[in-house]
Amino acid sequence: MTYRAPIADIQHALKVAGFDALLETGAFEGADAETVAAVLEAAAEFTQGVLAPLNRSGDQEGVKLENGKVRTASGFADAYRQYREGGWPSLAAAPEFGGQGLPGVLALAVMEMVDSANMSFGLCPILSEGAVHLLSLHGTKRQQELYLKKLVSGEWTGTMNLTESQAGSDLALVRTKAEKNGETYRITGQKIFITYGDHDMAENIVHLVLARLPDAPPGVKGISLFLVPKILVGDDGKLGAANSLRPLSVEHKLGIHASPTCVMSYEGAYGEIVGNPGDGLALMFLMMNAARLHVGMEGVGVAEAATQKALEYARERRQGRSPWSKDQTAAIFDLPDVRRMLMLMTAKTQAARAICYATAIAADLAEHARNEHTRDAARLREEILVPIAKAWSTDVGVEVASIGVQVHGGAGFIEETGAAQFYRDARIAPIYEGTNGIQAMDLAGRKLGLEDGKAARDLLIEMRSTAIADKKIVAPLHDAIAACERATDWMISNRGTPDALAAATTYLKLMGDTVGGWMLAKGADSEPRQALARFYAAQILHPAIGLADTIETGAADLQAAEIFPG
Ligand SMILES: Cc1cc2nc3c(=O)[nH]c(=O)nc-3n(C[C@H](O)[C@H](O)[C@H](O)COP(=O)(O)OP(=O)(O)OC[C@H]3O[C@@H](n4cnc5c(N)ncnc54)[C@H](O)[C@@H]3O)c2cc1C
Repeated sequence: MTYRAPIADIQHALKVAGFDALLETGAFEGADAETVAAVLEAAAEFTQGVLAPLNRSGDQEGVKLENGKVRTASGFADAYRQYREGGWPSLAAAPEFGGQGLPGVLALAVMEMVDSANMSFGLCPILSEGAVHLLSLHGTKRQQELYLKKLVSGEWTGTMNLTESQAGSDLALVRTKAEKNGETYRITGQKIFITYGDHDMAENIVHLVLARLPDAPPGVKGISLFLVPKILVGDDGKLGAANSLRPLSVEHKLGIHASPTCVMSYEGAYGEIVGNPGDGLALMFLMMNAARLHVGMEGVGVAEAATQKALEYARERRQGRSPWSKDQTAAIFDLPDVRRMLMLMTAKTQAARAICYATAIAADLAEHARNEHTRDAARLREEILVPIAKAWSTDVGVEVASIGVQVHGGAGFIEETGAAQFYRDARIAPIYEGTNGIQAMDLAGRKLGLEDGKAARDLLIEMRSTAIADKKIVAPLHDAIAACERATDWMISNRGTPDALAAATTYLKLMGDTVGGWMLAKGADSEPRQALARFYAAQILHPAIGLADTIETGAADLQAAEIFPG
């Protein structure tokens, strides 16, 4: 694995996504250009030197459940120790809890490198960060003292326990029970697909578990959230006995083999409530927004790594004659169709990166901007961008990894090359953290419903008013923005109908394609970046414009039952 962190591209994307606006808030005094550069350099060194070498071995070795405990692949526990000692878990956490108080977007940029180098490893910090976010905002003083600080330092890790076999996308069906036991609760039930539900990389795990109180109303209103430690923690912070919970099995998966995906059994386990009874799902959504953005970043991380690998291979592999060089056998890099694939990979990866960073910057501003108006506007921007960042970027991850296999020809289908692993690893990201179909429903439903579509309209207005000099970019970009405007109007006036639900994924794709094109156009400040933005405009924006027409065709034909006999 020869991953090289693309620091210049990351710096450039930060700028395009609006990093300077973040510094102007004055909330991140430590985040000057020098610090940002130093953090990115150090992250590059760690991810290239420590995590990337474990990517293939982790894929081959996988995880094992032995004597009721999960053992991670060789080298992972030591890599995690170095991750913790390097201070990486605390980058964006608040100083009052032991964090470094740097912008969330900087931590996200670091996570991109982690995901490129080793997506399986990256899942552990992603889940811990969600738990940190949640407990920072809604933990009691005691929970913050006992649990949050350990999560911030990385000594302990966190999980999200939502899914049960009958409750996946529809969490209203959660059945895990929580019974009052004095001031605390006893949690009983089974959760499936729990990422890093057990492992040997940290001494304790803080599970955040959705469960239902006996007298709770049915549906989402009856769900509460509980903090359930793997090992019980005394009031003095000392670790005590094991809690009554265990991993029953680990899944055998298509990809991310080194990330344990556990069936977890809670057997009257000690739990503390977080927030109020009935607030469970709303609180979990706090974790999920951050996690959804992180999953989008996984798409970018894998896309970047797959692009680098394809480029390296294309420069070495000699086959065919190039119309551009006189060599009898050219490097496939010099063949126009291969160059097209490499450009597509690069353009989509860079667009998705900028979208994810812009989402993170909106989240940072929503929390830290000085005036309320900016905070409110940033909150709306974050809301509209999260489903796009998650779904569009993870689709890009799969597509780019697939093109990466194609660039390798037959060698891409052979595991030794490593291109196939990117494809397998990338495939989960459109599924978990709310499938991409659910993201599209969220965008077309709740997000377009915010202030009568203001979030989408404000974004489109800003896109339209951005000055772009290159005519070959500006014409298709403005046509695509017009298509988005038309589609947005149609989606809003048909909101909640089967027609709009059937069109939601297409609408999300149209929006993602267009916002991505806008990002590349904004960043086209040199000849190579202009060429990339022009390529994107021709290859992606042009076809996207037609999506507005397909959105309006409605769902009628989907119900033609005779297509699916039986
Ligand atoms: C490797 C892995 C790791 C995971 N990690 C975690 C974790 O750490 N914690 C956790 O709690 N869960 C985790 N999950 C679970 C994951 O979030 C769910 O698998 C996912 O949310 C989808 O739920 P489901 O599998 O039940 O699919 P279903 O909900 O059964 O969905 C099946 C299909 O129907 C579609 N669909 C369902 N409902 C709707 C709807 N209302 N509208 C339109 N389409 C719909 C979906 O888009 C999908 O295409 C993980 C899963 C995997 C595979």
